[in-house]
Amino acid sequence: MREIGHFIGGKKVAGTSGRTSDVFNPATGEVQAKVALASVEELRAAVANAKAAQPKWAATNPQRRARVFFKFVDLLNQHMDELATLLSSEHGKTVEDSKGDVIRGLEVCEFVCGIPHLAKGEFTEGAGPAIDMYSLRQPVGIGAGITPFNFPGMIPMWMFAPAIACGNAFILKPSERDPSLPIRLAELMIEAGLPAGILNVVNGDKTAVDAILTDPDIGAVSFVGSTPIARYVYGTAAMNGKRAQCFGGAKNHMIIMPDADMDQAVNALMGAGYGSAGERCMAVSVAVPVGEETANRLVEKLVPKIESLRIGPYTDDKADMGPVVTKDAYNRIQGLINKGIEEGAKLVVDGRDFKLQGYENGYFVGGCLFDNVTPEMEIYKTEIFGPVLSVVRAHNYEEALSLPMKHEYGNGVAIFTRDGDAARDFASRVNIGMIGINVPIPVPLAYHSFGGWKASSFGDLNQHGTDSIKFWTRTKTITARWPSGIKGDAEFVMPTMK
Ligand code: NAD
Repeated sequence: MREIGHFIGGKKVAGTSGRTSDVFNPATGEVQAKVALASVEELRAAVANAKAAQPKWAATNPQRRARVFFKFVDLLNQHMDELATLLSSEHGKTVEDSKGDVIRGLEVCEFVCGIPHLAKGEFTEGAGPAIDMYSLRQPVGIGAGITPFNFPGMIPMWMFAPAIACGNAFILKPSERDPSLPIRLAELMIEAGLPAGILNVVNGDKTAVDAILTDPDIGAVSFVGSTPIARYVYGTAAMNGKRAQCFGGAKNHMIIMPDADMDQAVNALMGAGYGSAGERCMAVSVAVPVGEETANRLVEKLVPKIESLRIGPYTDDKADMGPVVTKDAYNRIQGLINKGIEEGAKLVVDGRDFKLQGYENGYFVGGCLFDNVTPEMEIYKTEIFGPVLSVVRAHNYEEALSLPMKHEYGNGVAIFTRDGDAARDFASRVNIGMIGINVPIPVPLAYHSFGGWKASSFGDLNQHGTDSIKFWTRTKTITARWPSGIKGDAEFVMPTMK
C-alpha cells in the first residue's frame, strides 16, 4: 500500500510515528493509500528545520521573494491537469471543479507577487523636531496552517503564499483525507526556487494540531474547518500566546425576491447548491423565496434540474458533481435527510437511494430538495455539507432578511432581485461577512479579503487581500531623531505635539 509521508527540509520524508490513516477513493470506496500521522517529535523536527531556514529567507529582498511566486504560478499553470487530477482522486470532485480549486489558490500567489509594494510599511518625515517616524512590517517568524478536506489546493495556498511572501517559514498541516496535493505544491515551490525548510508539510491529526498550538516557536496559526474545531484552535492558540485566525462552518442563504430573474436564480442555485456535492463553505444550502407565488415557481423549476443532475466519478468529464468525501460523511448526510423527513419537511427530490452502476461502493448521494423547512428544524440549523438544498418560504422581505440574521453562522449570503433599493438595504443590514447581489457564491477575489461573521470566523483579520499581509507580519514603529543642533533640558512630562 502506498504511504504518504511528510515534506520537511525541502524533501519528502517517511512518517516515523507508526500511526497512519486511510485515504480513500470516494468514487469506489477503496483505500488507495495510507497517510502518516505525525508525532509531536516529528512536528518539532519540522519546526526546527523551519527555524533554521527562516532568518535568511526574511533577509532575502522582497523582489527576490516575489520571483519565487512568479515562477510558482508558471509551474501551477504548466501542471494544472496533473494537479487537478491528483486533487480529484482523493477528494472526489470533478477535475474541472478541482482546477477551480487550484486556480483560486494560484490567484492568491499572483497577488503576493506584489509583496514589495504590499509590505512596504509607512513613513512620516518630520513627525516632530528633527524626528521621523516609520513603521515596519516584519514577519512573525514561523506560521502554521491547518486546513480542511474540501479545498486541498486553494486553502493551503491562501495561507502559505502570503505567509512565505512576507518572509516567514511555514508549517502546513493539511486534511488527512486528501493529503497528496499539498505535498506536490511544496515540491513545486522548491522547483520555483524556495529554499528548503521554508515550506514544510506535516501530515497528521489532533496530535499534530495540538503540537502546533503549543509550540513555542510558532507565532501565528491560521485554521479553516468546522466551527467546533475552529473555536478550539482559536482558544488554544490564544492561550499559548499565538496570533490566530480561525474560519468555521456555514449555512448560506439565498433570498429570491418576487422580481428576480427566475431562470438566473435557479441556475445559480443549482451550481451553488450542488456543485462539489455541496461540500463548499460558500455553498448555498438554504433558498428563501419571498411570497408563495415565488416559492411555487422556484420549486417547479428546480425539481427537473435536480432530478437530471449528472453524478459521476471524477474521471467522468461530463459529471456535474461527484461523491461525498468519506463513508462517515455519507452516513451523516443520509442521517440528516432522514431527520428532515421526521421533522416534517417535505422531501420533494429524494436522492437517498442514488446508485451509480459500476461504483456501487462509492459515496454518492443524489441531489435532494426539501420544501417547507422551518427555522426550528435540525436540517435548517446544522451545516449538512452535502447535496441537500432546503427551501424556507418567507412571507415578505423583512422575514427573509431575519433568517440569515438570526442564524448561528455568518459566512456568505445572496439576494436575487432587480430592485436596487432592496439589494442595497439587504447588503447594508445583514450581519454576514460576504454578500452576493445576483451572485450566488460571493467568494471575494485575491486582492479583497475572505472571511465570515458570527460562528463562521474567530479572530479579526481575514484571509488574503491586505488583511493577510497584516496577519503574517508584526508592526514595529520607530521614532528617530537625528539632532542637528537641537538642544534642550530634560523633559519629565509626557511628550505630545501640543
Ligand atoms: P474539520 O474541522 O473536521 O477538519 C479541519 C482540520 O482540523 C483538519 O486538518 C483536521 O485534521 C483538523 N482536526 C479535526 N479534528 C480535530 C480535533 N479534534 N482537534 C484538532 N484538529 C482537528 O473540517 P473538514 O471536515 O475537513 O472541513 C469541512 C468544514 O470546513 C466545514 O464545516 C466547512 O464549512 C468548513 N470550511 C470553512 C471554510 C471557511 O472559510 N469558513 C472554508 C472551507 C471549509
